Amino acid sequence: MAKTKNNTLKLQFDTTWNYAPAPESKSIASIKPRYELFINGEFVKPSSKKYFDTINPANEEKLSEVADANAADIDKAVKAARTAYDKVWSKMPAKERAKYIYRIARMMQERAREFAVIESLDGGKPIRESRDFDVPTAANHFFYYAGWADKLEYAFPNRTAVPLGVAGQIIPWNFPLLMAAWKVAPAIATGNTVVLKPAETTPLTALKLAEIIQEADLPPGVVNIITGAGATGAAIVNHPDIDKIAFTGSTDVGKIIQKAIAGTNKKATLELGGKAANIIFEDAPLDQAVEGVINGIFFNQGHVCCAGSRLYVQESVYKTVLRKLKDRLETLIVGDPLDKNTDIGAINSKQQLETIHKYIKIGQQEGAEMFQSSCALPGKGYFCRPTLFTNVAQSSRIAQEEIFGPVLTIQTFRTEDEVIEKANNTPFGLSAGVWTDKGSKIFNMTTKMRAGVVWANTYNKFDPTSPFGGYKESGYGREGGLHGLSAYVNLI
Ligand code: NAP
Ligand code: MG
Repeated sequence: MAKTKNNTLKLQFDTTWNYAPAPESKSIASIKPRYELFINGEFVKPSSKKYFDTINPANEEKLSEVADANAADIDKAVKAARTAYDKVWSKMPAKERAKYIYRIARMMQERAREFAVIESLDGGKPIRESRDFDVPTAANHFFYYAGWADKLEYAFPNRTAVPLGVAGQIIPWNFPLLMAAWKVAPAIATGNTVVLKPAETTPLTALKLAEIIQEADLPPGVVNIITGAGATGAAIVNHPDIDKIAFTGSTDVGKIIQKAIAGTNKKATLELGGKAANIIFEDAPLDQAVEGVINGIFFNQGHVCCAGSRLYVQESVYKTVLRKLKDRLETLIVGDPLDKNTDIGAINSKQQLETIHKYIKIGQQEGAEMFQSSCALPGKGYFCRPTLFTNVAQSSRIAQEEIFGPVLTIQTFRTEDEVIEKANNTPFGLSAGVWTDKGSKIFNMTTKMRAGVVWANTYNKFDPTSPFGGYKESGYGREGGLHGLSAYVNLI
């Protein structure tokens, strides 16, 4: 064992303990040099005639160029969705709709490896995550909602569920395919049609999904996939013939959307930012808790709305937990997203890396103490060392604002009441985590914490049957489970 410059034990990077590179092959991923818009079942050129590049954030190389849709394209897509809704999809027997959705789910499974590689290339996340989490969970959402399509009378007993019409869906870059599945599957299972826009930096897996949808022979216009930047999203929000907006993204854009649809008949679900508290009590199994904390914040480079970015540790075990965390931090492998050994891949974009660096600087200026892993970073691409801050004041910006990167603040507490107050002292309320041996403490915490999801003795676990969504500035409405169905129907 060696000592690092931070004077902690260095277990894995000892020369004898280095892992040999284990890169996943790129050959399975067929990425076209250019992608058009998917409207009415066909790939069509954008009326702007403009395209933008999507790059691999791990090496800054261009992967493809993608159509930049303007308001005229959005109008075309909404018209296609409306026609498909009126003439085909809302009239089709639900069990027939389900067959298409099952088919899409199976095709996603068949092409899971290709999806995983493209997700890691385009977004920078480790292949282990895209392969073991994003893609299977996305396929599971299609399976789950396909199952509900012809059972809505059981989902909503004594009521009739009527679809809303055309849904405009806007998603972020942190879980591109999974967010597309969260949005599209419940919408079409309940008889709605869709215009979906992926994020500018990660459009490729949504476009692959469009190819599958075309191959699955889904009736034209039921799902339209439109690429572009913020203005394209705004054109969807402002289109008069959209009945529902489903948005996942930042609280700032969520507020703009809320203002834009005020006074219209558009329904909305907004899944916004977070600043989750992860709480370790002295009676917790500490090794498991430390592993859970590491998973909670460094999973997907901290690009997770529900990331456990604020750690609260009971004072009596603080020193032990901090030592274990620092030791574990030193063993995390930062690097090539396609390498199966990689724990932390590339930050999604240059802009996001700059935001994270800005917050790391703010933390130091605010007087917090910083600890970073001493690992080497690749020479090219956007990478960030996993970072811990101690001596953090509750009011400091790094403890209050969403950083959306691999940065953890650590504070201590003495009593349950104190930590509940601290955990709730945030404008957000998306998720939280509790680590303790005592069931009664778990129940007390889950009832008093104002967060949409509270994980106990685990973190970042997702399942299509569980609802997900926030309190306060983390948005409103729920996705997943039965709740996710009800967001796409009127009950009469
Ligand atoms: P973002 O900037 O709000 O972007 C989200 C989506 O909205 C992107 O497709 C974006 O397009 C589009 N957009 C930008 N400006 C718009 C406008 N004025 N009108 C309509 N659409 C617009 O968020 P992000 O930076 O991509 O994603 C990170 C944020 O998402 C974090 O705050 C995170 O917490 C949140 N998030 C929340 C959840 C949840 O379930 N609560 C899940 C994942 C992420 P461009 O990308 O092309 O700009
Ligand atoms: Mg990209």
